[in-house]
Amino acid sequence: MTRTTADVTFLRGYNQALVMALGRTVRTFERSTVVDATGLTPQAVSKVLARLSADGLIRTAGVRRPGIGKPAVVYEIVPDSRYAIGAHVARRTLRLVLVDLAGTVHHCAVSPLPGDFTPEQLLDALSSGIDALPGGADLRGRLTGVGIGMIGPLDHARGLVRDAHGLRHWHDVPLRDLAEAHLGLPVHLDKDVTAGITAEAWRHGGTFGDAVLIMVESGIGGGFWLGGTAHRGAHTNAGEFGHTVVALDGPPCVCGRHGCLEIVHNHAAEAGDIARAARVLAVGVVNLLQTLDLSRVVLAGADLLRHAQTYLAAVEEAVHTDVPRADWLTTDVTLSSLGPDVIAAGAAMQVLDKHYGVPDLAPL
Ligand SMILES: [Zn+2]
Repeated sequence: MTRTTADVTFLRGYNQALVMALGRTVRTFERSTVVDATGLTPQAVSKVLARLSADGLIRTAGVRRPGIGKPAVVYEIVPDSRYAIGAHVARRTLRLVLVDLAGTVHHCAVSPLPGDFTPEQLLDALSSGIDALPGGADLRGRLTGVGIGMIGPLDHARGLVRDAHGLRHWHDVPLRDLAEAHLGLPVHLDKDVTAGITAEAWRHGGTFGDAVLIMVESGIGGGFWLGGTAHRGAHTNAGEFGHTVVALDGPPCVCGRHGCLEIVHNHAAEAGDIARAARVLAVGVVNLLQTLDLSRVVLAGADLLRHAQTYLAAVEEAVHTDVPRADWLTTDVTLSSLGPDVIAAGAAMQVLDKHYGVPDLAPL
């Protein structure tokens, strides 16, 4: 392929991605909506709309007849034209969801994983879980791939699980390639928290600013959305928020240091003092806000959601009272809009985003 051809292909894909991003954000749109939002010429937009219609990704949803001027065709995304499967791998459970092109979660299935499970055990659980999803064979042609939100540390770029905390059989395991071979589908591997923040960003569209998703589920992690995209860091391992130290002479942590946020939090939670555990987490959240100046904090994870109101209240209070000039440095604190599905749904949305999203650019 010549360089020129490659550029044209990229531009065509890019323009299509712009239209799809717009279609996800607004319910219906016209050619003029796309022209206004993207700055493309009406002729270019017509071509893109024709191509997306031919691929079955968008369809006409009627005609708008203004008082003056020509009638305008109204378009919408066809949600069931493409699907992705999302998997949330936790220490004891595998959660699978089916997500359509509009980002709606359709089916959810949770199955137990053996304690200290091996890569083979996970692959078997993935394939039997995917086979058991309703509409399996019928969906196959519309399935874009499988996203896996996994316990870290992991190398997203290479598809390697480096040394998943608390799992002994996961040293430099090439999970992405193994899963692709095992499932016969494209696989996207990412940290659980990074998948989670992608789900929140996708659902909010262009209004989503710099944000963190805090997950409390066995461990504590943070997934970041900075400058309009998921932030993974230099080694794609950003988010080990639970292993930042909050007590210099604190208890020893699984990571080898002392007084990590995670171990101090877990000691309080295990002693039944959820209010204190929530305050410990809140201290960590304020540290993050002081470092990164975020506009949004999303709280997630099974252990947190069991005591959702306690955590929400503690973090909200800390954000309002412990951040100097909180009147100016305002931050929204919410629970995850997708509850326990957020990681699996986000993993699926990452697959859809890879094919139908705008690559590494702020959403419209
Ligand atoms: Zn630690």
